[in-house]
Amino acid sequence: MRFLIGLPCLFLFGLCAPAQPVSRDAPSPGKRVVIAADTALDGKGGALRKTRIIIEGSKIVAIDPKAKPIDYDLRGLTVLPGWIDAHVHITSSFGKDGKSVGGDGTTHEDAFRHASNAWATLMAGFTTVQSMGSPGELALRNAIANGSLPGPRILTAVGALSGRGEQTGTAEEIRAFVRKQKEAGADLIKIYAAGGFNASEMTLSQEQLNAACDEAKKLGLRTLVHAFREAVRAATLAGCTQIEHGVGATDEDLKIMDEKGTYLDPQAGLLWENYLLNAKKFAGTPFFPKTIEGFAPMKDLPPVSQEFLRRAAKIPGLKIVFGTDALSGMHGRNAEEFIHHVRDCGVDPMAAMISANSLAAEALGMTGQIGSIAPGLDADIIALDGDPRKDITAVRRVAFVMKGGIVYKNAARNAIPVFADIPP
Ligand SMILES: [Zn+2]
Repeated sequence: MRFLIGLPCLFLFGLCAPAQPVSRDAPSPGKRVVIAADTALDGKGGALRKTRIIIEGSKIVAIDPKAKPIDYDLRGLTVLPGWIDAHVHITSSFGKDGKSVGGDGTTHEDAFRHASNAWATLMAGFTTVQSMGSPGELALRNAIANGSLPGPRILTAVGALSGRGEQTGTAEEIRAFVRKQKEAGADLIKIYAAGGFNASEMTLSQEQLNAACDEAKKLGLRTLVHAFREAVRAATLAGCTQIEHGVGATDEDLKIMDEKGTYLDPQAGLLWENYLLNAKKFAGTPFFPKTIEGFAPMKDLPPVSQEFLRRAAKIPGLKIVFGTDALSGMHGRNAEEFIHHVRDCGVDPMAAMISANSLAAEALGMTGQIGSIAPGLDADIIALDGDPRKDITAVRRVAFVMKGGIVYKNAARNAIPVFADIPP
């Protein structure tokens, strides 16, 4: 399937007349491509100046300031590794009547919505996402992975372990559930160990958490635990990989997380902003207030989340990864969360970028594949109109998106329009 400057011809059925003559020759699998950049953030905290990135096939093979000829001229933009969102619900959508239909739909229409969410996310510069599990995720992950659909690389939980106290099951039953997820194709295990933001008591015991995270570890799977307050420490002590949300954890809890190398994935604004913006669409759907008025108390939540991230960011060494909890209304707006981190919580802009690049790759166990601009890694490369270190709102202006060596978006001022092919 061919693409021109981000337009999927798939949806245009032959109406995809290029604006200017382009070669009809498909690039061979190992085609050499050179990107020129004035400024390239390497994803690990470094910045390369006046350089060129050489790509062959799906991989970055070299950094060479003298490389020629230039295929993509991204000078004047800020180049960085494709972002990673460590917590999304990629299938969560608004339905025909505009109301939230959640993420569990399995109709043809639902499938198109899911594909559309993936497309929006990729266009926003996110080349990898970790999704928390729904019936459609496996098929979507596989379709993107085999090149049938454009979208970010997806890691999926398939289904989640929802804590319901003793009813959740015995330690042995919980271990069996984890094994079942692995057999179903899960890349990670999602665990709900507490209620919601305002009803945040533990819903799994220490023993149950120990069983879930230990079994996952034995199978080589990571565990992401929805946790507030005391559930944060319990999940950390159970050896789970990453804490989602985490509000209510004490400094002492956060220090224990740091000692154990547990990742923290906090949200600082976009989630609440989205609920308030789309209150009409969420009102009366499962898990949400029945009326728009019922959403009013959510106005008080951003300051609480932001105070938490400010406090967490001061714990030396604590690994804070970028995860938006993207639901309906947020797909393609994931980068807004960076603005909340930097503007509202005092996070250093470079640290914010790292949290969605090399640190997120480490949290996903994919350091050798994504999250940095370096030889040997997948060619996941984006470019922003502006420098996020000076103006964090530059994250809204994604001008170029390459994933695995394929260009999906190319609105760079000096960029040469080039077709890219999705591999068979
Ligand atoms: Zn979530």
